Amino acid sequence: MNDANAPIAVICAMESELSHAVKCLDGRSSLLLGPWSAERGVLGKRPVIALASGIGLVNAAAATAVLLAGVRPCAVINFGCAGAHNEKIFPGDVVIGSEVVAYGSLITLPDGSERYAGFRYRLNGQVTLTDLLRADRELLRRASDAARDWEPDAWPAARTGARTPMVHTGVIGSADCWTQDPQRIGVLHDRHHSLCEEMEAAAIAQVCAIYEVPMLAIKDISNNELHSATEHSDAGPSLAEVSGELGARSFALVKRIIASFDS
Ligand code: SAH
Repeated sequence: MNDANAPIAVICAMESELSHAVKCLDGRSSLLLGPWSAERGVLGKRPVIALASGIGLVNAAAATAVLLAGVRPCAVINFGCAGAHNEKIFPGDVVIGSEVVAYGSLITLPDGSERYAGFRYRLNGQVTLTDLLRADRELLRRASDAARDWEPDAWPAARTGARTPMVHTGVIGSADCWTQDPQRIGVLHDRHHSLCEEMEAAAIAQVCAIYEVPMLAIKDISNNELHSATEHSDAGPSLAEVSGELGARSFALVKRIIASFDS
Protein backbone atom coordinates (compact mmCIF):
# COMPACT_ATOMS: atom_id res chain seq x y z
CA MET A 1 0.00 0.00 0.00
CA ASN A 2 2.90 2.33 0.67
CA ASP A 3 4.30 1.84 -2.83
CA ALA A 4 3.09 5.05 -4.52
CA ASN A 5 2.91 3.32 -7.93
CA ALA A 6 0.56 0.56 -6.79
CA PRO A 7 -3.05 1.23 -7.76
CA ILE A 8 -5.79 1.46 -5.17
CA ALA A 9 -9.07 -0.06 -6.38
CA VAL A 10 -12.40 1.54 -5.57
CA ILE A 11 -15.47 -0.60 -6.17
CA CYS A 12 -19.13 0.40 -5.98
CA ALA A 13 -22.31 -1.23 -7.26
CA MET A 14 -23.99 1.31 -9.54
CA GLU A 15 -22.90 3.62 -12.35
CA SER A 16 -24.48 6.55 -10.50
CA GLU A 17 -22.14 5.84 -7.58
CA LEU A 18 -19.14 5.35 -9.87
CA SER A 19 -19.64 8.80 -11.39
CA HIS A 20 -18.39 10.43 -8.15
CA ALA A 21 -15.09 8.59 -8.51
CA VAL A 22 -14.72 8.95 -12.28
CA LYS A 23 -15.02 12.75 -12.23
CA CYS A 24 -12.06 12.94 -9.82
CA LEU A 25 -9.66 10.88 -11.95
CA ASP A 26 -6.97 12.66 -13.96
CA GLY A 27 -5.63 11.12 -17.17
CA ARG A 28 -8.53 8.72 -17.33
CA SER A 29 -8.70 5.65 -19.56
CA SER A 30 -10.96 2.61 -19.70
CA LEU A 31 -9.80 -0.92 -19.10
CA LEU A 32 -11.86 -3.92 -20.10
CA LEU A 33 -11.80 -6.70 -17.54
CA GLY A 34 -13.82 -9.42 -19.19
CA PRO A 35 -17.40 -8.18 -19.17
CA TRP A 36 -16.59 -5.32 -16.76
CA SER A 37 -15.23 -1.97 -17.76
CA ALA A 38 -13.05 -0.19 -15.22
CA GLU A 39 -11.78 3.40 -15.25
CA ARG A 40 -8.13 4.03 -14.56
CA GLY A 41 -6.58 7.35 -13.64
CA VAL A 42 -4.72 9.29 -11.01
CA LEU A 43 -6.21 10.83 -7.90
CA GLY A 44 -3.76 13.31 -6.42
CA LYS A 45 -0.55 11.39 -7.04
CA ARG A 46 -2.01 7.93 -6.64
CA PRO A 47 -3.02 5.53 -9.44
CA VAL A 48 -6.62 4.47 -8.92
CA ILE A 49 -8.83 1.96 -10.69
CA ALA A 50 -12.59 2.39 -10.28
CA LEU A 51 -15.25 -0.18 -11.11
CA ALA A 52 -19.03 -0.53 -10.80
CA SER A 53 -19.68 -4.21 -10.14
CA GLY A 54 -23.43 -4.24 -10.51
CA ILE A 55 -25.84 -4.70 -7.62
CA GLY A 56 -25.67 -7.69 -5.31
CA LEU A 57 -23.25 -10.20 -3.82
CA VAL A 58 -22.64 -12.28 -6.94
CA ASN A 59 -21.85 -9.29 -9.14
CA ALA A 60 -19.64 -7.80 -6.43
CA ALA A 61 -17.71 -11.03 -5.84
CA ALA A 62 -17.19 -11.76 -9.52
CA ALA A 63 -16.09 -8.23 -10.38
CA THR A 64 -13.71 -8.13 -7.42
CA ALA A 65 -12.13 -11.46 -8.38
CA VAL A 66 -11.62 -10.34 -11.97
CA LEU A 67 -10.14 -7.04 -10.78
CA LEU A 68 -7.80 -8.61 -8.23
CA ALA A 69 -6.59 -11.25 -10.66
CA GLY A 70 -6.19 -8.83 -13.57
CA VAL A 71 -4.89 -5.63 -11.99
CA ARG A 72 -3.46 -6.67 -8.60
CA PRO A 73 -4.31 -3.48 -6.72
CA CYS A 74 -2.61 -3.02 -3.36
CA ALA A 75 -5.89 -2.23 -1.59
CA VAL A 76 -9.62 -2.25 -2.24
CA ILE A 77 -12.07 0.32 -0.93
CA ASN A 78 -15.76 -0.39 -1.43
CA PHE A 79 -18.11 2.60 -1.30
CA GLY A 80 -21.79 3.22 -2.05
CA CYS A 81 -25.20 3.71 -0.51
CA ALA A 82 -26.82 1.76 2.30
CA GLY A 83 -29.90 1.61 4.53
CA ALA A 84 -29.69 2.41 8.24
CA HIS A 85 -30.11 -0.32 10.88
CA ASN A 86 -30.72 2.05 13.74
CA GLU A 87 -33.11 4.98 14.09
CA LYS A 88 -30.32 7.33 15.15
CA ILE A 89 -28.60 6.99 11.77
CA PHE A 90 -29.93 9.35 9.07
CA PRO A 91 -29.64 9.78 5.30
CA GLY A 92 -26.42 11.66 4.64
CA ASP A 93 -24.55 9.91 7.46
CA VAL A 94 -21.49 7.89 6.55
CA VAL A 95 -20.57 4.49 8.00
CA ILE A 96 -16.95 3.33 8.10
CA GLY A 97 -17.08 -0.47 8.17
CA SER A 98 -14.79 -1.70 10.92
CA GLU A 99 -16.28 -5.15 10.19
CA VAL A 100 -18.64 -6.64 7.64
CA VAL A 101 -21.10 -9.50 8.13
CA ALA A 102 -22.96 -11.59 5.54
CA TYR A 103 -26.29 -11.42 7.35
CA GLY A 104 -28.08 -13.62 4.82
CA SER A 105 -25.79 -16.56 5.60
CA LEU A 106 -28.24 -18.50 7.77
CA ILE A 107 -29.31 -21.93 8.92
CA THR A 108 -33.04 -22.11 9.56
CA LEU A 109 -33.45 -24.60 12.41
CA PRO A 110 -36.42 -27.01 12.65
CA ASP A 111 -38.19 -24.73 15.14
CA GLY A 112 -37.97 -21.85 12.68
CA SER A 113 -35.27 -20.02 14.59
CA GLU A 114 -32.17 -18.84 12.74
CA ARG A 115 -28.51 -19.45 13.31
CA TYR A 116 -26.04 -17.14 11.65
CA ALA A 117 -23.53 -19.18 9.61
CA GLY A 118 -20.99 -16.47 8.76
CA PHE A 119 -18.27 -16.71 6.12
CA ARG A 120 -16.59 -19.89 4.87
CA TYR A 121 -13.66 -19.85 2.45
CA ARG A 122 -10.35 -21.54 1.76
CA LEU A 123 -7.14 -19.69 2.53
CA ASN A 124 -3.73 -21.32 2.01
CA GLY A 125 -5.37 -24.75 1.89
CA GLN A 126 -7.22 -24.22 5.16
CA VAL A 127 -10.97 -23.77 5.52
CA THR A 128 -11.63 -20.52 7.35
CA LEU A 129 -14.90 -20.01 9.19
CA THR A 130 -15.59 -16.62 10.65
CA ASP A 131 -18.61 -14.59 11.75
CA LEU A 132 -17.18 -11.33 10.46
CA LEU A 133 -14.43 -9.93 8.33
CA ARG A 134 -12.46 -7.03 9.74
CA ALA A 135 -11.32 -4.01 7.80
CA ASP A 136 -7.62 -3.68 7.15
CA ARG A 137 -6.18 -1.88 10.19
CA GLU A 138 -4.16 0.68 8.25
CA LEU A 139 -7.07 1.59 5.95
CA LEU A 140 -9.35 1.86 8.99
CA ARG A 141 -6.87 4.12 10.78
CA ARG A 142 -6.54 6.30 7.69
CA ALA A 143 -10.33 6.47 7.39
CA SER A 144 -10.72 7.54 11.03
CA ASP A 145 -8.01 10.17 10.59
CA ALA A 146 -9.58 11.41 7.35
CA ALA A 147 -13.00 11.65 9.02
CA ARG A 148 -11.77 13.54 12.07
CA ASP A 149 -11.95 17.06 10.65
CA TRP A 150 -14.59 16.29 8.02
CA GLU A 151 -18.37 16.55 7.89
CA PRO A 152 -20.44 14.94 5.12
CA ASP A 153 -22.54 17.35 3.01
CA ALA A 154 -26.10 17.96 4.22
CA TRP A 155 -28.75 15.63 2.82
CA PRO A 156 -30.99 17.54 0.33
CA ALA A 157 -34.35 16.25 1.49
CA ALA A 158 -33.49 16.11 5.18
CA ARG A 159 -36.44 16.03 7.57
CA THR A 160 -37.00 19.34 9.27
CA GLY A 161 -34.97 19.52 12.43
CA ALA A 162 -32.64 16.72 11.33
CA ARG A 163 -29.09 17.10 12.61
CA THR A 164 -26.14 17.58 10.27
CA PRO A 165 -24.74 14.33 8.82
CA MET A 166 -22.12 12.53 10.84
CA VAL A 167 -19.67 9.66 10.49
CA HIS A 168 -20.13 6.38 12.38
CA THR A 169 -17.76 3.43 12.62
CA GLY A 170 -19.10 -0.09 13.01
CA VAL A 171 -20.54 -3.18 11.37
CA ILE A 172 -21.88 -3.17 7.81
CA GLY A 173 -24.29 -6.01 6.97
CA SER A 174 -24.61 -7.39 3.44
CA ALA A 175 -27.11 -9.73 1.77
CA ASP A 176 -29.15 -9.92 -1.40
CA CYS A 177 -32.01 -8.42 0.61
CA TRP A 178 -33.59 -5.06 1.20
CA THR A 179 -35.11 -5.07 4.67
CA GLN A 180 -38.08 -2.82 5.36
CA ASP A 181 -39.77 -4.58 8.30
CA PRO A 182 -38.74 -2.64 11.45
CA GLN A 183 -38.88 -5.82 13.52
CA ARG A 184 -36.52 -7.62 11.15
CA ILE A 185 -34.14 -4.66 11.13
CA GLY A 186 -34.19 -4.87 14.94
CA VAL A 187 -33.34 -8.60 14.85
CA LEU A 188 -30.43 -7.98 12.48
CA HIS A 189 -29.16 -5.02 14.47
CA ASP A 190 -29.33 -7.00 17.73
CA ARG A 191 -27.67 -10.05 16.16
CA HIS A 192 -24.81 -8.25 14.42
CA HIS A 193 -24.70 -4.75 15.97
CA SER A 194 -24.96 -3.67 12.34
CA LEU A 195 -25.21 0.05 11.63
CA CYS A 196 -26.47 -0.40 8.07
CA GLU A 197 -27.25 -2.89 5.32
CA GLU A 198 -26.33 -3.04 1.67
CA MET A 199 -25.64 -5.71 -0.94
CA GLU A 200 -21.94 -5.87 -1.78
CA ALA A 201 -19.43 -5.27 1.03
CA ALA A 202 -19.36 -8.81 2.45
CA ALA A 203 -18.73 -10.35 -0.97
CA ILE A 204 -15.93 -7.89 -1.75
CA ALA A 205 -14.42 -8.42 1.71
CA GLN A 206 -14.48 -12.21 1.30
CA VAL A 207 -12.79 -12.13 -2.11
CA CYS A 208 -10.18 -9.70 -0.75
CA ALA A 209 -9.60 -12.04 2.24
CA ILE A 210 -9.04 -14.93 -0.16
CA TYR A 211 -6.58 -12.86 -2.22
CA GLU A 212 -5.07 -11.40 0.97
CA VAL A 213 -5.59 -7.85 -0.26
CA PRO A 214 -6.33 -5.11 2.32
CA MET A 215 -9.97 -4.00 2.17
CA LEU A 216 -12.24 -1.38 3.71
CA ALA A 217 -15.92 -0.59 3.09
CA ILE A 218 -17.40 2.88 3.54
CA LYS A 219 -21.11 3.49 2.95
CA ASP A 220 -23.39 6.51 2.92
CA ILE A 221 -26.92 6.23 4.20
CA SER A 222 -29.57 6.81 1.55
CA ASN A 223 -32.57 5.43 3.45
CA ASN A 224 -33.76 4.66 6.92
CA GLU A 225 -36.71 2.29 6.61
CA LEU A 226 -37.41 2.80 10.34
CA HIS A 227 -38.29 6.43 9.56
CA SER A 228 -39.97 6.04 6.16
CA ALA A 229 -40.21 3.09 3.80
CA THR A 230 -38.54 3.43 0.40
CA GLU A 231 -40.98 3.00 -2.50
CA HIS A 232 -40.62 -0.24 -4.43
CA SER A 233 -41.48 -0.53 -8.08
CA ASP A 234 -41.08 -3.28 -10.67
CA ALA A 235 -37.58 -2.00 -11.35
CA GLY A 236 -36.60 -2.36 -7.70
CA PRO A 237 -36.31 0.02 -4.77
CA SER A 238 -36.64 3.55 -5.98
CA LEU A 239 -33.98 5.93 -4.90
CA ALA A 240 -34.47 7.88 -8.12
CA GLU A 241 -35.08 11.23 -6.41
CA VAL A 242 -31.71 11.07 -4.71
CA SER A 243 -29.75 9.18 -7.36
CA GLY A 244 -27.11 11.95 -7.52
CA GLU A 245 -26.49 11.59 -3.79
CA LEU A 246 -25.85 7.82 -3.79
CA GLY A 247 -22.23 7.18 -2.95
CA ALA A 248 -21.32 10.90 -2.99
CA ARG A 249 -20.46 11.17 0.70
CA SER A 250 -18.74 7.80 1.04
CA PHE A 251 -16.61 8.60 -2.01
CA ALA A 252 -15.75 12.02 -0.58
CA LEU A 253 -14.25 10.21 2.39
CA VAL A 254 -12.53 7.64 0.13
CA LYS A 255 -10.93 10.55 -1.69
CA ARG A 256 -9.52 11.90 1.56
CA ILE A 257 -8.15 8.46 2.44
CA ILE A 258 -6.43 8.15 -0.93
CA ALA A 259 -5.02 11.68 -0.54
CA SER A 260 -3.57 10.65 2.84
CA PHE A 261 -1.11 8.39 0.97
CA ASP A 262 0.34 11.44 -0.83
CA SER A 263 1.44 13.30 2.28
N1 SAH B 1 -31.91 0.51 -8.80
C1 SAH B 1 -32.40 1.21 -7.67
C2 SAH B 1 -31.50 1.17 -6.47
C3 SAH B 1 -30.84 -0.10 -6.25
S1 SAH B 1 -30.96 -0.51 -4.65
C4 SAH B 1 -32.64 2.64 -7.98
O1 SAH B 1 -31.72 3.30 -8.50
O2 SAH B 1 -33.72 3.10 -7.65
C5 SAH B 1 -29.72 -1.58 -4.35
C6 SAH B 1 -28.40 -0.92 -4.08
O3 SAH B 1 -28.49 0.00 -3.03
C7 SAH B 1 -27.40 -1.97 -3.69
O4 SAH B 1 -26.20 -1.70 -4.36
C8 SAH B 1 -27.25 -1.82 -2.18
O5 SAH B 1 -25.90 -1.97 -1.79
C9 SAH B 1 -27.76 -0.42 -1.88
N2 SAH B 1 -28.70 -0.23 -0.76
C10 SAH B 1 -29.10 1.00 -0.35
N3 SAH B 1 -29.98 0.89 0.65
C11 SAH B 1 -30.17 -0.43 0.90
C12 SAH B 1 -30.99 -1.15 1.82
N4 SAH B 1 -31.80 -0.53 2.68
N5 SAH B 1 -30.95 -2.49 1.78
C13 SAH B 1 -30.16 -3.12 0.89
N6 SAH B 1 -29.36 -2.48 0.00
C14 SAH B 1 -29.36 -1.14 -0.01
